[in-house]
Amino acid sequence: MPARLIDGKALAQGIRERIAKDVVELHARVGIRPGLAAILVGDDPASKLYVKNKQKACDAAGIYVDEHKLPASTNQAELLALIEKVNADPKVHGILVQLPLPKQIDSKVILDAVSPLKDADGFHPYNMGRLVEGTARFTPCTPKGIIKMIESTGVAIEGKRAVVVGRSNIVGKPTALLLMHRNATVTVCHSKTRDLPAVCREAEILVVAIGKARFLTGDMVRAGAVVVDVGVNRLADGTFVGDVDFGPVSERASWISPVPGGVGPMTIAMLLENTLESAKRMAGLI
Ligand code: NDP
Repeated sequence: MPARLIDGKALAQGIRERIAKDVVELHARVGIRPGLAAILVGDDPASKLYVKNKQKACDAAGIYVDEHKLPASTNQAELLALIEKVNADPKVHGILVQLPLPKQIDSKVILDAVSPLKDADGFHPYNMGRLVEGTARFTPCTPKGIIKMIESTGVAIEGKRAVVVGRSNIVGKPTALLLMHRNATVTVCHSKTRDLPAVCREAEILVVAIGKARFLTGDMVRAGAVVVDVGVNRLADGTFVGDVDFGPVSERASWISPVPGGVGPMTIAMLLENTLESAKRMAGLI
Protein backbone atom coordinates (compact mmCIF):
# COMPACT_ATOMS: atom_id res chain seq x y z
CA MET A 1 0.00 0.00 0.00
CA PRO A 2 1.50 3.42 -0.88
CA ALA A 3 2.41 5.74 1.97
CA ARG A 4 -0.02 8.24 3.43
CA LEU A 5 0.88 11.88 2.96
CA ILE A 6 2.04 14.06 5.85
CA ASP A 7 0.35 17.20 4.61
CA GLY A 8 2.54 19.96 6.06
CA LYS A 9 0.59 22.64 4.23
CA ALA A 10 -2.74 21.65 5.79
CA LEU A 11 -1.18 21.13 9.20
CA ALA A 12 0.50 24.56 9.02
CA GLN A 13 -2.76 26.22 7.96
CA GLY A 14 -4.53 24.85 11.05
CA ILE A 15 -1.71 26.07 13.30
CA ARG A 16 -1.74 29.51 11.68
CA GLU A 17 -5.48 29.85 12.23
CA ARG A 18 -5.05 28.95 15.89
CA ILE A 19 -2.21 31.50 16.19
CA ALA A 20 -4.37 34.23 14.59
CA LYS A 21 -7.05 33.62 17.25
CA ASP A 22 -4.45 33.66 20.03
CA VAL A 23 -3.05 36.96 18.71
CA VAL A 24 -6.51 38.57 18.93
CA GLU A 25 -7.01 37.18 22.44
CA LEU A 26 -3.59 38.36 23.62
CA HIS A 27 -4.29 41.86 22.38
CA ALA A 28 -7.72 41.93 24.01
CA ARG A 29 -6.26 40.69 27.30
CA VAL A 30 -3.07 42.73 27.73
CA GLY A 31 -2.97 45.11 24.76
CA ILE A 32 0.11 43.49 23.22
CA ARG A 33 0.49 42.61 19.58
CA PRO A 34 3.31 40.13 18.87
CA GLY A 35 6.02 41.65 16.67
CA LEU A 36 8.72 40.12 14.48
CA ALA A 37 11.74 42.05 13.19
CA ALA A 38 12.60 40.59 9.79
CA ILE A 39 16.11 41.45 8.63
CA LEU A 40 17.20 40.77 5.06
CA VAL A 41 20.65 41.76 3.81
CA GLY A 42 21.32 41.70 0.06
CA ASP A 43 19.40 40.53 -3.00
CA ASP A 44 19.53 36.75 -2.92
CA PRO A 45 16.27 35.79 -4.70
CA ALA A 46 15.61 32.70 -2.54
CA SER A 47 16.15 34.70 0.68
CA LYS A 48 13.86 37.47 -0.60
CA LEU A 49 11.14 34.93 -1.30
CA TYR A 50 11.53 33.27 2.13
CA VAL A 51 11.26 36.63 3.92
CA LYS A 52 8.27 37.64 1.79
CA ASN A 53 6.46 34.38 2.64
CA LYS A 54 7.20 34.83 6.33
CA GLN A 55 5.93 38.43 6.22
CA LYS A 56 2.72 37.39 4.46
CA ALA A 57 2.12 34.71 7.08
CA CYS A 58 2.70 37.23 9.89
CA ASP A 59 0.28 39.70 8.29
CA ALA A 60 -2.40 37.01 7.98
CA ALA A 61 -1.95 36.06 11.65
CA GLY A 62 -2.05 39.68 12.86
CA ILE A 63 1.62 39.68 13.87
CA TYR A 64 3.35 43.05 13.42
CA VAL A 65 6.37 42.95 11.10
CA ASP A 66 9.25 45.38 11.59
CA GLU A 67 10.86 45.04 8.18
CA HIS A 68 14.53 45.85 7.49
CA LYS A 69 15.93 45.42 3.97
CA LEU A 70 19.61 46.31 3.87
CA PRO A 71 21.91 46.55 0.82
CA ALA A 72 24.40 43.76 0.05
CA SER A 73 27.20 46.24 0.90
CA THR A 74 26.10 46.47 4.57
CA ASN A 75 29.01 45.88 6.93
CA GLN A 76 29.06 43.96 10.18
CA ALA A 77 29.05 47.04 12.44
CA GLU A 78 25.97 48.42 10.67
CA LEU A 79 24.11 45.15 11.04
CA LEU A 80 25.15 44.85 14.70
CA ALA A 81 23.80 48.36 15.32
CA LEU A 82 20.45 47.32 13.85
CA ILE A 83 20.38 44.14 15.96
CA GLU A 84 20.98 46.27 19.08
CA LYS A 85 18.10 48.54 18.07
CA VAL A 86 15.59 45.71 17.60
CA ASN A 87 16.86 43.94 20.74
CA ALA A 88 15.80 47.04 22.68
CA ASP A 89 12.52 47.69 20.85
CA PRO A 90 9.55 46.71 23.07
CA LYS A 91 7.33 46.20 19.99
CA VAL A 92 9.60 43.38 18.83
CA HIS A 93 9.25 39.92 20.44
CA GLY A 94 11.04 37.86 17.80
CA ILE A 95 14.01 38.59 15.53
CA LEU A 96 14.61 36.87 12.23
CA VAL A 97 17.95 37.36 10.46
CA GLN A 98 17.61 35.68 7.08
CA LEU A 99 20.63 33.53 6.20
CA PRO A 100 22.95 33.42 4.36
CA LEU A 101 24.53 36.81 5.06
CA PRO A 102 26.99 38.48 2.64
CA LYS A 103 30.64 37.38 2.84
CA GLN A 104 31.88 40.46 4.73
CA ILE A 105 29.60 39.62 7.68
CA ASP A 106 30.34 36.82 10.15
CA SER A 107 26.96 35.09 10.69
CA LYS A 108 28.08 33.67 14.02
CA VAL A 109 28.81 37.14 15.41
CA ILE A 110 25.39 38.36 14.27
CA LEU A 111 23.39 35.38 15.58
CA ASP A 112 25.21 35.64 18.92
CA ALA A 113 24.21 39.32 19.13
CA VAL A 114 20.48 38.59 18.85
CA SER A 115 18.91 38.78 22.31
CA PRO A 116 18.34 35.20 23.54
CA LEU A 117 14.95 36.50 24.76
CA LYS A 118 13.91 37.36 21.17
CA ASP A 119 15.66 34.57 19.32
CA ALA A 120 12.65 33.34 17.32
CA ASP A 121 14.84 31.05 15.19
CA GLY A 122 16.43 29.48 18.27
CA PHE A 123 19.98 29.75 16.89
CA HIS A 124 21.60 31.61 19.82
CA PRO A 125 24.08 29.43 21.77
CA TYR A 126 22.07 30.04 24.97
CA ASN A 127 18.93 28.63 23.39
CA MET A 128 20.90 25.82 21.72
CA GLY A 129 22.27 24.94 25.18
CA ARG A 130 18.76 24.85 26.63
CA LEU A 131 17.68 22.64 23.75
CA VAL A 132 20.47 20.18 24.59
CA GLU A 133 19.35 20.24 28.26
CA GLY A 134 15.76 19.54 27.28
CA THR A 135 14.57 22.90 28.65
CA ALA A 136 14.26 24.72 25.33
CA ARG A 137 12.67 28.15 25.30
CA PHE A 138 12.95 28.84 21.56
CA THR A 139 13.08 25.62 19.56
CA PRO A 140 14.48 26.08 16.02
CA CYS A 141 11.54 26.33 13.61
CA THR A 142 12.27 23.57 11.09
CA PRO A 143 13.03 20.85 13.69
CA LYS A 144 9.99 21.91 15.76
CA GLY A 145 7.82 21.60 12.64
CA ILE A 146 9.31 18.20 11.78
CA ILE A 147 8.36 16.83 15.20
CA LYS A 148 4.78 18.14 14.86
CA MET A 149 4.58 16.47 11.45
CA ILE A 150 5.70 13.12 12.86
CA GLU A 151 3.30 13.49 15.81
CA SER A 152 0.45 14.26 13.39
CA THR A 153 0.72 10.72 11.99
CA GLY A 154 -0.25 9.21 15.34
CA VAL A 155 2.85 6.97 15.16
CA ALA A 156 4.50 7.02 18.62
CA ILE A 157 8.08 8.36 18.68
CA GLU A 158 8.98 6.71 21.98
CA GLY A 159 11.12 3.62 21.62
CA LYS A 160 11.45 3.95 17.86
CA ARG A 161 14.69 3.74 15.91
CA ALA A 162 15.10 7.16 14.33
CA VAL A 163 17.74 8.14 11.77
CA VAL A 164 18.48 11.76 10.90
CA VAL A 165 20.55 12.28 7.75
CA GLY A 166 22.35 15.65 8.03
CA ARG A 167 23.94 17.25 11.10
CA SER A 168 23.59 21.00 10.55
CA ASN A 169 22.96 23.26 13.56
CA ILE A 170 19.78 24.47 11.89
CA VAL A 171 18.12 21.15 11.05
CA GLY A 172 19.88 17.84 11.65
CA LYS A 173 21.37 18.34 15.12
CA PRO A 174 18.31 19.93 16.79
CA THR A 175 15.96 17.41 15.15
CA ALA A 176 18.05 14.56 16.56
CA LEU A 177 17.91 16.14 20.03
CA LEU A 178 14.15 16.61 19.91
CA LEU A 179 13.67 12.97 18.85
CA MET A 180 15.99 11.84 21.65
CA HIS A 181 14.06 13.91 24.20
CA ARG A 182 10.95 12.06 23.01
CA ASN A 183 12.66 8.75 23.76
CA ALA A 184 13.53 7.62 20.26
CA THR A 185 16.86 5.83 19.77
CA VAL A 186 18.58 8.23 17.43
CA THR A 187 21.40 7.86 14.90
CA VAL A 188 22.75 10.94 13.14
CA CYS A 189 24.34 10.46 9.70
CA HIS A 190 26.52 12.79 7.62
CA SER A 191 28.84 12.80 4.64
CA LYS A 192 31.38 10.55 6.39
CA THR A 193 28.87 7.89 7.47
CA ARG A 194 29.84 4.40 6.27
CA ASP A 195 27.18 2.36 4.50
CA LEU A 196 24.49 5.00 4.77
CA PRO A 197 21.86 2.83 3.02
CA ALA A 198 22.20 0.12 5.69
CA VAL A 199 21.85 2.68 8.51
CA CYS A 200 18.81 4.28 6.85
CA ARG A 201 17.17 0.88 6.41
CA GLU A 202 17.14 0.49 10.21
CA ALA A 203 15.00 3.59 10.63
CA GLU A 204 11.38 3.45 11.68
CA ILE A 205 11.48 7.25 11.57
CA LEU A 206 13.72 8.75 8.89
CA VAL A 207 14.41 12.49 8.54
CA VAL A 208 16.49 13.55 5.56
CA ALA A 209 18.10 17.03 5.47
CA ILE A 210 21.14 17.12 3.20
CA GLY A 211 20.25 19.29 0.21
CA LYS A 212 20.74 16.70 -2.59
CA ALA A 213 17.90 16.14 -5.02
CA ARG A 214 16.20 12.71 -4.72
CA PHE A 215 19.23 11.32 -2.86
CA LEU A 216 17.29 8.89 -0.67
CA THR A 217 16.14 6.03 -2.87
CA GLY A 218 13.53 3.33 -2.27
CA ASP A 219 16.11 0.66 -1.38
CA MET A 220 17.33 2.83 1.54
CA VAL A 221 13.98 2.72 3.32
CA ARG A 222 12.61 0.14 5.72
CA ALA A 223 9.08 -1.02 4.91
CA GLY A 224 6.58 0.98 6.97
CA ALA A 225 8.97 3.82 7.91
CA VAL A 226 7.77 7.37 8.55
CA VAL A 227 9.82 9.58 6.18
CA VAL A 228 10.20 13.35 6.51
CA ASP A 229 11.88 15.11 3.59
CA VAL A 230 13.44 18.44 4.57
CA GLY A 231 15.45 19.12 1.41
CA VAL A 232 14.58 21.89 -1.02
CA ASN A 233 16.43 21.47 -4.31
CA ARG A 234 15.83 23.56 -7.41
CA LEU A 235 16.07 21.57 -10.66
CA ALA A 236 17.25 23.01 -13.98
CA ASP A 237 13.63 23.35 -15.14
CA GLY A 238 12.85 25.61 -12.17
CA THR A 239 10.81 23.06 -10.21
CA PHE A 240 11.63 22.04 -6.65
CA VAL A 241 12.18 18.54 -5.30
CA GLY A 242 13.23 17.17 -1.94
CA ASP A 243 16.10 14.94 -0.85
CA VAL A 244 13.82 11.90 -1.12
CA ASP A 245 12.97 10.07 -4.34
CA PHE A 246 9.27 10.46 -3.63
CA GLY A 247 7.70 7.84 -5.96
CA PRO A 248 9.73 4.75 -5.04
CA VAL A 249 10.04 5.73 -1.37
CA SER A 250 6.29 6.20 -1.01
CA GLU A 251 5.90 2.58 -2.17
CA ARG A 252 7.80 1.45 0.96
CA ALA A 253 7.07 4.06 3.65
CA SER A 254 3.90 4.19 5.77
CA TRP A 255 3.94 8.02 5.86
CA ILE A 256 5.88 10.51 3.77
CA SER A 257 6.04 14.31 3.55
CA PRO A 258 6.01 15.95 0.11
CA VAL A 259 8.19 18.75 -1.30
CA PRO A 260 6.83 21.34 -1.75
CA GLY A 261 3.99 21.37 0.77
CA GLY A 262 5.75 19.53 3.61
CA VAL A 263 8.36 20.93 5.98
CA GLY A 264 8.50 24.40 4.34
CA PRO A 265 5.04 25.63 5.42
CA MET A 266 5.54 24.14 8.88
CA THR A 267 8.80 26.08 9.33
CA ILE A 268 6.91 29.33 8.73
CA ALA A 269 4.09 28.35 11.10
CA MET A 270 6.67 27.59 13.82
CA LEU A 271 8.29 31.01 13.37
CA LEU A 272 4.90 32.60 14.06
CA GLU A 273 4.36 30.30 17.03
CA ASN A 274 7.77 31.16 18.49
CA THR A 275 7.05 34.89 18.11
CA LEU A 276 3.63 34.55 19.76
CA GLU A 277 5.06 32.48 22.62
CA SER A 278 7.79 35.09 23.12
CA ALA A 279 5.21 37.87 23.35
CA LYS A 280 3.25 35.85 25.91
CA ARG A 281 6.42 35.16 27.89
CA MET A 282 7.35 38.85 27.93
CA ALA A 283 3.84 39.64 29.14
CA GLY A 284 4.35 37.16 31.99
CA LEU A 285 1.53 34.91 30.77
CA ILE A 286 3.63 31.76 30.31
P1 NDP B 1 23.71 21.96 5.34
O1 NDP B 1 24.36 22.08 4.00
O2 NDP B 1 24.08 22.91 6.42
O3 NDP B 1 24.00 20.49 5.90
C1 NDP B 1 23.89 19.37 5.09
C2 NDP B 1 24.18 18.13 5.89
O4 NDP B 1 24.02 17.02 5.03
C3 NDP B 1 25.61 18.06 6.43
O5 NDP B 1 25.60 17.55 7.75
C4 NDP B 1 26.30 17.09 5.48
O6 NDP B 1 27.30 16.30 6.08
C5 NDP B 1 25.15 16.18 5.10
N1 NDP B 1 25.38 15.54 3.81
C6 NDP B 1 25.66 16.15 2.64
N2 NDP B 1 25.83 15.22 1.68
C7 NDP B 1 25.64 14.01 2.26
C8 NDP B 1 25.68 12.68 1.79
N3 NDP B 1 25.96 12.39 0.52
N4 NDP B 1 25.42 11.68 2.66
C9 NDP B 1 25.16 11.95 3.96
N5 NDP B 1 25.10 13.20 4.46
C10 NDP B 1 25.34 14.22 3.63
O7 NDP B 1 22.17 21.94 5.06
P2 NDP B 1 20.89 22.34 5.98
O8 NDP B 1 20.79 21.39 7.12
O9 NDP B 1 20.85 23.78 6.24
O10 NDP B 1 19.73 22.03 4.93
C11 NDP B 1 19.51 20.74 4.40
C12 NDP B 1 18.42 20.81 3.34
O11 NDP B 1 17.21 21.22 3.97
C13 NDP B 1 18.65 21.85 2.22
O12 NDP B 1 18.10 21.36 1.04
C14 NDP B 1 17.88 23.06 2.68
O13 NDP B 1 17.46 23.85 1.60
C15 NDP B 1 16.70 22.39 3.34
N6 NDP B 1 16.05 23.22 4.36
C16 NDP B 1 14.71 23.35 4.27
C17 NDP B 1 14.03 24.11 5.19
C18 NDP B 1 12.58 24.23 5.08
O14 NDP B 1 11.99 25.03 5.78
N7 NDP B 1 11.92 23.48 4.22
C19 NDP B 1 14.74 24.82 6.27
C20 NDP B 1 16.15 24.55 6.32
C21 NDP B 1 16.76 23.78 5.37
P3 NDP B 1 28.68 16.95 6.69
O15 NDP B 1 28.27 17.59 7.99
O16 NDP B 1 29.56 15.77 6.87
O17 NDP B 1 29.15 17.94 5.66
